[in-house]
Amino acid sequence: MRPRIMRAASRPTTKAEAANFVGAVLSDPVYAPEGPSRLRASRVTFMPGGRTNWHQHAVGQILYVLSGVGRYQLDGEPVREIMAGDTVVIPPNARHWHGSAPDTMMCHLAMSETDDQGRATSWLEPVSDVDYAKAPAKLD
Ligand code: MN
Repeated sequence: MRPRIMRAASRPTTKAEAANFVGAVLSDPVYAPEGPSRLRASRVTFMPGGRTNWHQHAVGQILYVLSGVGRYQLDGEPVREIMAGDTVVIPPNARHWHGSAPDTMMCHLAMSETDDQGRATSWLEPVSDVDYAKAPAKLD
């Protein structure tokens, strides 16, 4: 890890990997792990209807919603609405997905760390349209 400022214009926006996402999802790199740091941070922008596949993180994940209105679901729990300013804490190895609301974009900062074996994210199956369309639970 060396001291520097990584300039915005030097890091192009990319499309999120189609194998792991549904819909239009853009990713802007913030930070990739450089020892001794294990942090990975990305700004991810989901167009309406865009979402991750089901997945899990070896050391968990923290999401900070920067703008818009989104959806988040832990396996076995109701879909939750998430909005700008919300922080979502996702425990290690918990199956979940996150994305936009059906008619509203959502942008979040995603932060996770690798484990001792260098593992971070395990990708699973897409979130079905039926599961995605379920009305979110009331805010808690
Ligand atoms: Mn996640």
